[in-house]
Amino acid sequence: MPCPYVRFRRGRTRMTRKPVNSRLAEFGTTIFAEMSALAARTGAINLGQGFPDTDGPEEIREAAVRALRDGRGNQYPLAPGIPELRLAVADHQAHRYALSYDPDTEVLVTAGATEAIAAALLALVEPGDGVIALEPYYDSYAACIAMAGGKRVPVTLRPRDGAFRLDLDELRDAVTPRTRVLLINTPHNPTGTVLTREELTAVAALAVEHDLLVISDEVYEHLVFDGAEHIPLASLPGMRERTVTIGSAGKTFSFTGWKVGWVTAPAALVTAVRSAKQFLTYVSSGPFQYAIAEALRLPDSYFEDFRADMRAKRDLLAAGLADAGFTVHRPAGTYFITTDIRPLGESDGLAFCLGLPERAGVVAVPNAVFYDNRAEGAPFVRFAFCKRIAVLEEAVARLKSLGA
Ligand SMILES: *Cc1c(COP(=O)(O)O)cnc(C)c1O
Repeated sequence: MPCPYVRFRRGRTRMTRKPVNSRLAEFGTTIFAEMSALAARTGAINLGQGFPDTDGPEEIREAAVRALRDGRGNQYPLAPGIPELRLAVADHQAHRYALSYDPDTEVLVTAGATEAIAAALLALVEPGDGVIALEPYYDSYAACIAMAGGKRVPVTLRPRDGAFRLDLDELRDAVTPRTRVLLINTPHNPTGTVLTREELTAVAALAVEHDLLVISDEVYEHLVFDGAEHIPLASLPGMRERTVTIGSAGKTFSFTGWKVGWVTAPAALVTAVRSAKQFLTYVSSGPFQYAIAEALRLPDSYFEDFRADMRAKRDLLAAGLADAGFTVHRPAGTYFITTDIRPLGESDGLAFCLGLPERAGVVAVPNAVFYDNRAEGAPFVRFAFCKRIAVLEEAVARLKSLGA
């Protein structure tokens, strides 16, 4: 019997339906792939996608080589992750935040934070459940909520007092009886906002009042500047029991290609996330797990130097963007700067970004793609500063021509 999806015509098969299903039809290709291809095609400096252009610590690279040579992790590692890494993650949460997790039952290693987000949503969301996410949102959130059959409910961060802030009334109004999950991200990509204790306390109160689960994406936990403090949601009263916290080695140790991430949560939630995760990748990144177990035990000076390095890069790019005529929303965290292009006489960030390689030899990302209400995000454009100083200096020199 012929497959119902194809019609046979003169010996050729012809698809008569779109292959992608209705849940994913709106997503297409991720903006990062599109913009990185544009950078490659035009030779422009790529400040679009947030990957560092230098690798992380040499000793950690060597640790991966050693693991690979010694035959550690070359075969399927244990399903929840290697014990050394789970213990290192638990120690990290305890040492930094006084959060205690059992490495055997409350820590799960994932294929980057990306898989942790997907597995958490697939495990915790029933079809039709509402998932509240801060907008602009990391692009995988929308797709994973859709794959889980959830209903995305954005709450928009808007500029106030120099930063993108959460409107607590709006957040409160977004909660309905169908709401199941709050998907929070702090430090926040793409705005660079670090949620304050006051904001997080309000989020926590709402979660407790309505008995919601919280998925907290904290992959930029070590990138906070100017005295801002990263406060894990799980550390607030009533939150540990309902929060799935997500971390990643990619951003903290500048090895984004290794795809080592993790989840910390109470055992029942970890078990739920694992039930989805085991059928996505089962396991991943064997030898790299050994290396990241060592990376998490690097002395505090590593984290301080990393932060200081990124802060200097932020200051360089922020000053250059301001010089070029952008309004700069100076980030308190992450390695992104969100700018407003209206002072340049522009209002459509997507058109601006598509023309920027030609005009100035630089690639940036239009924040509009991270909004449901694209008009709301239209004037904002994101630049990444996790690049070598010389590269940032060249980008700044090129962008100067915009104001002229
Ligand atoms: C980069 C990023 C991720 C994905 O992290 P990986 O470990 O590379 O999968 C998740 N969330 C946010 C906010 C990010 O910026």
